[in-house]
Amino acid sequence: MINIAIDGPSGSGKSTVSDIVANKLNILHLNTGALYRAVGLYLIEHNIDPNNERDVLSCIDQVRIELKYIDGIQRVYLEGVDVTDRLYSLKVSDVCSISSAYPKVRELITSIQRQVAETVDVVMEGRDITSVVLPNAKYKFYLDASARIRAIRRINDTKNQDHLNMDDLARVEAEIIERDRRDQTRETSPLIRTADSIYINSDNITAQEVSNIIINKVKEGEK
Ligand code: C5P
Repeated sequence: MINIAIDGPSGSGKSTVSDIVANKLNILHLNTGALYRAVGLYLIEHNIDPNNERDVLSCIDQVRIELKYIDGIQRVYLEGVDVTDRLYSLKVSDVCSISSAYPKVRELITSIQRQVAETVDVVMEGRDITSVVLPNAKYKFYLDASARIRAIRRINDTKNQDHLNMDDLARVEAEIIERDRRDQTRETSPLIRTADSIYINSDNITAQEVSNIIINKVKEGEK
């Protein structure tokens, strides 16, 4: 089974790179952030304050999240409804970065992720894939980029549902820095760079170039 684990902060290019790598190697791409986002969307839709841990935990067993692949493309279902196209607003980003800190939320999402990795070849990307979800993956990478570059990418992202433009740069950059802080300092499964991950900074290289580094490593390892 090929397991490629990629971690990195938001906007570091994990998703774009994983798409390219998965296509090239003809394996699945599991974007784990989308699953945490589905939890965030659930809380928003049910008017549950993400900061109220008790309220979040009391509903989490009822949250029904499913992952499907349609023509190789990942779709996320919440309560039986495809919500994939509603997961990329700043509101969902903000709420899910709070709720993803709770261990019970992580247990739910981690079990979905491991089921996939056990059954198919996959490139899986997120925050705790190299450290917690797939610590024994043969291929591990940490993608990085400066907060400014990541904010610019966020604004230019075609999935950008907030209609952001360059006037929003300072705000988006500040939000990214705050989200990094939350992801890196939470007690359960913080975003860390493990010693055995290959570090790639994409400030000055394209997603295709980052992907080539990963594809070459995997091809070498599978010879
Ligand atoms: O990757 P993306 O920005 O879509 O992830 C959204 C949020 O989900 C992150 O800010 C983080 O709080 C959470 N997340 C996580 N662990 C993962 C993937 C995402 O905690 N493996």
